[in-house]
Formats: sequence, C-alpha cells, structure tokens
Amino acid sequence: MKKTGININLFLYCGLEKKELENIYPIIMERNVQLATKCNIGIIVLGLLLFGVNILLGYDNTAAYWVIVVGGITLLAFRMIFKKLNGIMAHVYCYALITTVLAFGMALSLQPGNANMPSTSFVVFLVLLPIVVNDKPYRMGLLMLFVTLTYQILCFFCKTGEALAADIINTATFSIIGYVLYILISNRSVREIFFWTQTAENERIREEARIAEEANKAKSNFLANMSHEIRTPMNAIIGLDEMILRESNDETAKKYAEDIKSAGNTLLSIINDILDLSKIETGKMELIPVNYELSSVINDIVNMTEKKAEDKNLKFNMKVEESIPSVLNGDEIRIRQILLNIINNAVKYTEKGSIDVYISFDRVTSVLKAVVKDTGIGIKPEDKERLFNSFLRLDETRNRNIEGTGLGLNISRQLAQMMDGTIEVESEYGKGSVFTITVVQKVADDTPMGDYTKRLEKARKEEKEYKPQLLAPDATLLVVDDNDMNIKVVKFLLKKTKIKITTALSGTECLELVKSNSYDIILLDQMMPGMSGVETLKAIRDLKLADDTPVIALTADAISGAKEMYIEQGFTDYLSKPIIYEELEKQLIEYLGDKAYVSSDVQ
Ligand code: ADP
Repeated sequence: MKKTGININLFLYCGLEKKELENIYPIIMERNVQLATKCNIGIIVLGLLLFGVNILLGYDNTAAYWVIVVGGITLLAFRMIFKKLNGIMAHVYCYALITTVLAFGMALSLQPGNANMPSTSFVVFLVLLPIVVNDKPYRMGLLMLFVTLTYQILCFFCKTGEALAADIINTATFSIIGYVLYILISNRSVREIFFWTQTAENERIREEARIAEEANKAKSNFLANMSHEIRTPMNAIIGLDEMILRESNDETAKKYAEDIKSAGNTLLSIINDILDLSKIETGKMELIPVNYELSSVINDIVNMTEKKAEDKNLKFNMKVEESIPSVLNGDEIRIRQILLNIINNAVKYTEKGSIDVYISFDRVTSVLKAVVKDTGIGIKPEDKERLFNSFLRLDETRNRNIEGTGLGLNISRQLAQMMDGTIEVESEYGKGSVFTITVVQKVADDTPMGDYTKRLEKARKEEKEYKPQLLAPDATLLVVDDNDMNIKVVKFLLKKTKIKITTALSGTECLELVKSNSYDIILLDQMMPGMSGVETLKAIRDLKLADDTPVIALTADAISGAKEMYIEQGFTDYLSKPIIYEELEKQLIEYLGDKAYVSSDVQ
C-alpha cells in the first residue's frame, strides 16, 4: 500500500500507511480539539490575569486586550475548522492558522516604528504550537526553540535597548511556559518528556484504531452472513405466499397474502441494503460494468414509482433528454438502485404537490445527471450533511409511519462516489427538496435514445399481453438445492405446468441422478455445503454427462453482470432468489423448446 508521509504530515506520521492514517486521524483530531480548547482557554485566562495585574499596577492594557481578542478568535476558528473539516485538511488549516498568528505578530513587532516597543502579545501564541505537533514532544520542543531563536536574532537587527531585552526574555519565558503547559495538558509522563522519547500515545492510538477496524469488519461480516441466511427462508415465505395468492379462493386470505407479499418485499430490500453496506464497509463492493440501455432502466423506475406517486395524488413528471446515447456502459443495477432510492424517497417524503425528475447526459464530460425535485417535507439546513449518515433518519417521530432504515442515501452516495460522481441536496424545510445525482458513464452506442415513453408504452403492452400459461407435461426438470423449502417453492410454483420434477439436496446427489437419468432442464443452486453449484456443474461437464441439458443457476445475489458471469462459467442462464414465477416460466419456455407449450387451459 502507498506510504504517506512526505506531504503535509512531514512532522507527524511519516511511514504510516494511508489506511492507518485515515483510521487514526479522527482520534488524533478529536484529541487536538480538546487540546486546542484547553490551550486557548489557557491563553484567555492568561490575558485576563494580565488585564487584572495591569489594572492593579496602573499599566497600559493594550497587550492584554490583544491576547484576549486573538485568543478568543483563534478558539472560534479552531472550533469551526474541526467542525467543518475532517482529517488531513483540518490539520493543514491549523498549521496555516497558527503560522499566520505567529508570523503576523512577529511582523508587527519587528516593524521599524515598533523598534523601542517590546512585543508582549504574540509570543503567548507559542502555546498553540502543541496542537499541530502534539504527537512528538521533541519536535514540538525543537520547533519552539527554532521560532524563538529566529525571532530573537531578528530582534537584534530591529529592536533597541529595553525593548530588545524584554523581547528576548518574553519569548524565552513563553516558550518555557508553553512547553510546561503542553506537558501538563497533554498528560505525558515526565520520563517521556525528559528523554524526548516518542510517546507511547501514537502506538496506543494505532492499536485502538486497529481494534476498532477489526470490530467493524467483524460486524460487517456478521451482517453479510446474517442477510444471506435470512434470504433463504424469505424465498420460502415469498414463494409460498405466491401460492396462496394464486390458488386461494378465499378473498380474506388473499388480502392477508397481499400484505405478506408487500412486507416480504420490504424486508428483502432492507436485507439488500444491509448486505450492500457491509460490502462497502469491508471494501468488497465492486462495480460490474455492462452495456445497458438507460431507457430500460428508466422504464423500470417509472413502473415502480409512478403508481406509488399516483396513489398519494402526487403529480409525477419524468423528463428525459432524447439525445442521451441509447447504450451506456456502467453498473446498470447500481445506477438503477441510486435513482430508485432518491425517487422513492421523494415520493415517500412528499404529501402533496409533485415529483419532477429530469435526466440528461453531457457528451463532453460523460456525466449522466438526474435532478429529482419534490414538494415534500424538506430538510433543515443543519441536517443536510447528516442525511447521508448510515442508519440515520430525520424527524423520527414525524416520519414514524414511513418505512425506511436510513441506509439508502448513505449507500447511494458511496455508490455514486465509486462512479466518480456525487449526490447533492438543496432543500427548504417545509417546502421541498432537490436531489442532484451525477455519475460518469461510458458511451457504448451514441445513437440518441429518442423518446423513452414510446419504449415504456411498448413494454407495458407486452406485459399486458403476457399471460403465463405454460404446460409441459412431457418435460423433466431436476432441481438441486440444499434447502428443502426452496425445493418445495419450485415444486409449488410449477405445479400447474405438470412438468415432471425430480429433486436433489446436494451436488453429489445431483451427480448420481444425472449419471442414470436424463433431464430436459436443471435448476442448480449456487450456495450449497460440500459441492457448490459451480463445482457440481464442472463435474457434470467433465464427466460428459448431460452435455446438451440447459443448466440454470439459482443464486441469492442479484448483481450486475451476473448473467454473463454464470454463462462464462458454463451455465445456460441464471435466476435470482426469491424466484419470480414469470421469470422462471419465461426461461422454461425458452429452453424447453418443443416440450413446452402455451395453453389457455391451465386452471
Ligand atoms: P430512509 O430509508 O429512512 O428513507 P435514506 O437514507 O434514504 O433512508 O434517507 C435518510 C433520511 O433522509 C430519511 O429518513 C429522511 O428523513 C431524509 N430524506 C431523504 N429524502 C428526503 C426527501 N426527498 N425529503 C425529505 N427528507 C428526506
């Protein structure tokens, strides 16, 4: 991994790996904020003391004012810097601020007009140096010595008489006070300071960061495994529920089944979000670019969101530039996910008015841009950034009955960033919000895509015409899955097709069956203990068994490019779980050939 060091962190973290540095930074920064606050408060107290003493002795108070005012301003500036920026940039700004305060003070005091005026105030700010170099006491000492000596040498040329003597004593005294103060407030052991050893603090922080990172990884892995495990029973729940919907004549039962379906789908999307987040956190999220038609993505999105908006009496306007290239190259599934999340949110968080979506593409920069405008509840300015935190939902009480986990925006922004893009939000609380998404996408075919609604109409017409009525009593199908429930679901789903179904609970069992029987199609699960789906298929092909039989992969992961990946591994096609009947049926019609026929007699 790339070593960082020879940059702005020259003073501090030479040799740390970049990732380590990123982990440590928040901890160091947090400590720096505390240290900066303590130092500044120390300065202000010092100023107030000076003020009191001057009043008592009847001296001029200008220096005390300076100390209090500049101390106060830097305190505020530090707070702002740490609040607005994080990591390396905060450090850079602190360096700049302290250097400016010191340089400004020195320049002022060294001006010819001030030759016989001792400089009393700026030296106090030497105390601030520990904030930027607080991890290495000897560097801090050397830096103070360097600044003090440089100033004292310059004083020889620019100052006269008493002012020269006062400045030499002043800087020396404040350097010592600063260093002592630093020892006191940074909780260092005297031994460490005395021997100028590099503190054990750095090591401790590094260790803490490592432990925190490991705990986070363990959490993410746990979540990923959990989600995967949950998907399997979900397949059974959704599949069996589908059976009730199709077979039951009892209207009340059907109504309940509708609710189970909708709750099941919500649960699935939550599980998908958790899986995505854990993938992002463990660095396992990958974009899989494929050529895709944006118009088809937009069709799906309109299909999924327009009705929801209409149900709430919201106007839904989708405007898509006709000049957008017809085929783009990128991670289609992730693009769909981002757009769907933002548009769904607009519908969810709007009670009346309209949702306007505008999609365009810049051919020069290759940036695909979507602007989603709603007239909903809006977002307070102070919440604009927090919005993107994971598991954070705003106005919890107000939005209690709106479904959500607070993960969508966080995932969407991270995905957009992976595509060299951004998600930005403008909003007025109570009036509405505008989310702007930009992502870089390659162009695969630059013929303009034209009017997307034409395509939408065509797709809708086809859907209407598609009445699944498959019959295949002469065909044989082998379904292989280690989960008994999943097998049951396939059997139920295909009951009316009269297809002859054989089942196997493992790759080995499948091999045995294939050796002595022939099947017209095989559905093969991916995640099985012992032999995985891929291994089973390889064994079948190696043994030259069932060479012509189409084998469909069953998988719980719906990722971009999955079809291509499984085809590359020798599968004929793939189906993602929970299995959607229409998709399964389409594939059977395609791969069973003569043995499948479409009839209107299916009961
Ligand atoms: P959720 O699953 O809660 O919708 P998101 O990560 O998608 O999670 O959004 C996080 C929070 O941001 C939401 O809970 C909501 O408070 C706020 N939010 C998102 N989109 C909008 C919007 N269009 N208008 C108002 N608030 C929004």
